[in-house]
Amino acid sequence: MGRTFMPTYRSADELKSLQLQGLKWTVSHAYTGSEFYRKRLDEAGVTPGDIKSLDDLRRLPFVTAQDLQEGYPFPLRSVPFEDIVRIHASSGTTGKRKVLVYTAKDIEDWANMFARCYEMAALTPLDRVQICVGYGVWTAGVGFQNGCERFGAMALPVGPGNTEMHLQFLEDFQPTVMCATASMALLLAEEAEKHGLLDRINVKKVIMGAERASDSMRNKIQGLFRAEHIFDIPGLTEVYGPGTGLDCVHHTGIHYWADYYILEILDPETLEPVKEGEVGEMVYTTLGKEGSPLVRYRSRDLTRLIPGKCACGSILPRHDRIMGRSDDMFIIRAVNIYPSHVEEILTRHRGIGSEYQILLDRKEDGKDYMTIRVERAPGANPEGDASLGKGIGVDLRKSLLVSGIIEIVDYGSLPRTGRKSQRLFDRRG
Ligand code: ZN
Repeated sequence: MGRTFMPTYRSADELKSLQLQGLKWTVSHAYTGSEFYRKRLDEAGVTPGDIKSLDDLRRLPFVTAQDLQEGYPFPLRSVPFEDIVRIHASSGTTGKRKVLVYTAKDIEDWANMFARCYEMAALTPLDRVQICVGYGVWTAGVGFQNGCERFGAMALPVGPGNTEMHLQFLEDFQPTVMCATASMALLLAEEAEKHGLLDRINVKKVIMGAERASDSMRNKIQGLFRAEHIFDIPGLTEVYGPGTGLDCVHHTGIHYWADYYILEILDPETLEPVKEGEVGEMVYTTLGKEGSPLVRYRSRDLTRLIPGKCACGSILPRHDRIMGRSDDMFIIRAVNIYPSHVEEILTRHRGIGSEYQILLDRKEDGKDYMTIRVERAPGANPEGDASLGKGIGVDLRKSLLVSGIIEIVDYGSLPRTGRKSQRLFDRRG
């Protein structure tokens, strides 16, 4: 094996000292270079000199997506314009785009982080990587490509859409790795099947990002391609772009790049750290990002840390898959619940379809009630509804410590409006 992109630290203590050094540098750099950060830190009464240990991170104020939008067009910019070589922007679902600026070093670092993803997925320079994600001002395509070239594999920069070209490339160029959103990967697998190509293509690994994929979707993609591995690639434009970590071939969580950023998992209500292994919001502090450094950036993404060491022996810590957004959290009878919790419980039960709704009501007795409305699986017999509902109810109470009323409805009767469909209806007024 030639060049490695794995971290140089060898122990938890070494990582801590590396993180402290990066934290000190970041706070001082942001304070000096950015009016926004200077004002924020002054308001919080913290100066760069106050950062003496990693615990001092807790004294620093948070940055939110709203801060980025309010700072449009160049929020968090901490370097002079002559040092900026590129911008990227993420498509904010509401309001202005979040624009991030990159120095030449930021681009370098990102390519190295992304090359590490391919190394974590155990690629070799002989691999051929068909890139099926979008190129443009958002960070996807170019990140996958720069990382691939940095790693030394062959990139096939096709982009999304253009199914015919994808199929032709899959057959003619024999790519071994596909990088795509889950829905794109599934579409290509199904098209390849339809055209009788599955025996003539050679996709061994699929690296999927950008959207959450259900297990059934993942199994279907893996089965059709007869792929050896499906990897989850997380990332966000605020932290360079996709490629902030990757699961290894053991698939026991996503190894994340703790030498490039500090990841805090906080209770989104109290903003205090959750207990190890509990779900909370991912808050990022970058350690060497120059253009738009992040100090305690609240991503709103939810996950949990995975304690212990991975079978692969990597020193890189792990977090779980992204489990949803903290904005979606609701409180019922003093319990914090995320729709993803409910979804996770539902997926354990056979006989249900993919759509569900969570309805919250306050009844005359003054108490709050949660109703879970879930579709029966296509073709399933309605006679099984009662026992299915009972099973889900028991599981719900055991897992969430809250009771729910389970309503089984016909397959196809709940609205389907894509992955952003509204599933939570809080009618408590
Ligand atoms: Zn591992």
